[in-house]
Amino acid sequence: MCGIVGILDPGREVAFDLYRAAMALQHRGQDGAGLVTFQERFYHHSDLGLLAEVFRNQDLGRFRGKMGVAHLRYATSGDGTRGECQPFMVSFPFGLSLVHNGNLTNDALQRRKLAGTGRLVNSSSDSDTILHVLAHHLAKFERTRLEPGLILDAVRATMSDLEGAYSVVVAIANHGLLAFRDPHGIRPLVMGRREQALLFASESVALETVRADLWRDVQPGEAVLVTMDGQIHARQIAEPRSAHCSFEYIYLARPESVLDGQSVSAVRERLGESLARRFDGTADVAFDVPSSAEDAAVAFAREARIPYRKGIRRNHYVARSFIAANPSLRREVAALKFHLERRVISGQRVAVVDDSIVRGTTAQALVSRLRRKGAEHVAFFSASPPVTHPCPYGVDMAIQGDLLASRLDAEGIRHTLGVDHLQYQSQEDLEAALGNRPSCTACFTGCYPTDVSPATLSQIERQRSLISGDAQGDRLERDPELSREGASC
Ligand code: AMP
Repeated sequence: MCGIVGILDPGREVAFDLYRAAMALQHRGQDGAGLVTFQERFYHHSDLGLLAEVFRNQDLGRFRGKMGVAHLRYATSGDGTRGECQPFMVSFPFGLSLVHNGNLTNDALQRRKLAGTGRLVNSSSDSDTILHVLAHHLAKFERTRLEPGLILDAVRATMSDLEGAYSVVVAIANHGLLAFRDPHGIRPLVMGRREQALLFASESVALETVRADLWRDVQPGEAVLVTMDGQIHARQIAEPRSAHCSFEYIYLARPESVLDGQSVSAVRERLGESLARRFDGTADVAFDVPSSAEDAAVAFAREARIPYRKGIRRNHYVARSFIAANPSLRREVAALKFHLERRVISGQRVAVVDDSIVRGTTAQALVSRLRRKGAEHVAFFSASPPVTHPCPYGVDMAIQGDLLASRLDAEGIRHTLGVDHLQYQSQEDLEAALGNRPSCTACFTGCYPTDVSPATLSQIERQRSLISGDAQGDRLERDPELSREGASC
C-alpha cells in the first residue's frame, strides 16, 4: 500500500506542502511516515506512527529547500521497524532520496547482484533495493555532468532490472525530482501543477490539499524528470502493458481520487449497481460496512429501490484490524471498530455491503451482532469477487491459507459467515465497473501480470507474516493447485 509525494517548486519552500499532501494520503499507510527536503543537503525525519505523531515535535520550518519527497508507510515488506521508514537516502555518487509504493518480486535477486558490485542494501526493504539499483546505474556517470538524458538512461537500466510493482519518486541533489512507474502501472502515480510547481502523488486527492490541479498520470513505463529550474523531461522508457490494480478502486484509494483517468467513487457506484441488478431476493434496508463500501452501498440501495441507512457506524479511534497479530486480536479489534444501531436493524431484512471478504473476520463478527440487534434476515454482499490469491504487488492480502475463498466454496463461506444470503461480485461485472480497461485482478483470478513463481509468493507471504507478527511463517507451504499454474489465465 503506502503513499508517496514529491514536490519541486522553484518559487517556494516545499516542506509544509509535502506535509499537507501527505496528510491526504494517510489512509494508504499508518505504520510510519517520513519527509526529506533538499537545499545543499538533505533535511530528513522519519519514524514509526501516523504523520501527525511523527512530526508532532518537529519544526517543519527547519526543513529547507524547494524540492522534497514524503512517504506514508504500510509495511508489506521489510521488518516493520523504524529503520524501514522511508525516504531512503544515499549520498554517493549523487545525493538521492527515494520513496516507493509497490512491491518488488525480484528483490532477492537484485540484492545478490548489488552485493556482487560491493553495494550493501542495509535494510530489508525492497524500496532500499530500488534506491541502490538506481544509484548503481547512476554511478556510471560519476565524473560526468549529470544531464537529464543520462538520468533517464539510468532509469532505463534500473527498470530493466526491476520486476513487480513500483511507483517511485526520487529527489536528486542539485538536479531535480524524478518519478517513474513500472510498465504495468500497477500502483498509481499522478502529476499535478500549481503555477511553477510540479507535484507527484499516489492519488489525486493529495493535490487538492495544496491547491494544485491534476495534470496527468505518470504513464506505465514512463519516467518524468523535473529539473531544479522547473524544466520537464519525460520519456517512455518501457512499452506500457497496463494492469492497474483493481483493489485500489475497490478498497485502497480514497473515493474522491481519480486514478489513471478513472474516478474511484464512480467505479464503486457501478460495483454496487451490478450487485443489486443480480440480487434476486428482497431486503428492507441497505447499509455498508464503513467506510470503503459506502459508495457501493448507496448505489446498491438506489438500484434495488430500498432505503440506504446507517446501520453500522465506524469508531474512527480504533486502529486497523486487518494485520493485527493473531485471529483473536483481529476479531477483538473488529468488534471495537463498529457500532450497530438497533433502530435501523431490528425486525428488518438487511442488505449489508462490504468492499471485500478476505479472511471473513469482519463479516463473521458483524453478522452475529446483526442477529443480536434483531435482524430478521441477513443478506451479505461483497463488492468484489472472492479473494483467492495473495497480492505480491504491495496490497496486504493475508497469506493464501487464510483467504476464506481459497479454502471454501460459496455455500461453505455462507455457512461460515452465518448469513442467510451471500453474494459476491462477478468477475465480469468487476471488469465492466472498471470500464473494461486492462486491470490487475490477480487476487481474484491468480493471473499475475508479471512472472511470479510460487517460491516468490511464499517468500513475500513469509515476510508479511513476520511484519504482522503472525506466527504462521513456518507453515507456508503453497498449495500448487492455487498457484498461478493452477489458474486458467
Ligand atoms: P476480512 O475481515 O479479513 O474479511 O477483510 C475484509 C475487510 O477488511 C473489509 O471490511 C475491507 O474493508 C477490509 N480490507 C480489505 N482489504 C484490506 C487490506 N488490504 N488492509 C486492510 N483492510 C482491508
